[in-house]
Amino acid sequence: MLDNLHWLGHSGFRLEGLKTIYFDPYQLPKNPVKADIVLITHEHDDHYSPENLKLISSKGTVIVTDRAVGKKIQDANLVCRDIKVLSPGEDIDVYSVKINAVASYNTNKHFHSRNSKKLGFIVMTDGLRIYHAGDTDMIPEMRNYECDIALLPVSGIYVMTAEEAARAVLAIKPKLAIPMHYGSVAGSSDDAIRFQDLLRGKVEVKILEKES
Ligand SMILES: [Zn+2]
Repeated sequence: MLDNLHWLGHSGFRLEGLKTIYFDPYQLPKNPVKADIVLITHEHDDHYSPENLKLISSKGTVIVTDRAVGKKIQDANLVCRDIKVLSPGEDIDVYSVKINAVASYNTNKHFHSRNSKKLGFIVMTDGLRIYHAGDTDMIPEMRNYECDIALLPVSGIYVMTAEEAARAVLAIKPKLAIPMHYGSVAGSSDDAIRFQDLLRGKVEVKILEKES
């Protein structure tokens, strides 16, 4: 189930399913494959990287993102022109992949306000629902997010700590949880391991090796 989900470091992932889908490509391996779809949660430069977007975009690439990136990306001079801007609660079908934009915000720090309408995504493809949380704290909306795999930040500082993320997993109830947002900008693999330990016997947690 996981062979085709690759962690690229920080909050970046590539799903190689019926379509090639990137989430928040911030660090890329050499000669990265082109994207059919790129999902960008918000404009902070550890999530929105125009340089990386150039490397994985072709004319057919569709980018799905929030309002702030939607504005900035006009200056990025990309070959793909198909930019879909969503707000939390909206959804869209791209190449038969159903993409649900969901809320993602801080509750006890100021980096990601609710009003700025940054995004998380629930993506339905290849018979799976994958939730990428973006930069968020545990928020009440999470109880309504239905997914098989949850990708959650664990570093603290800008996002949830490992302890808060573990509580979020118990609210979301995915089949599998994968920690992200550690190892470069904030947090370390210790946070990922603590997250896994806290959920032992409750929800399966897989720590992915970074692809390089
Ligand atoms: Zn951020």
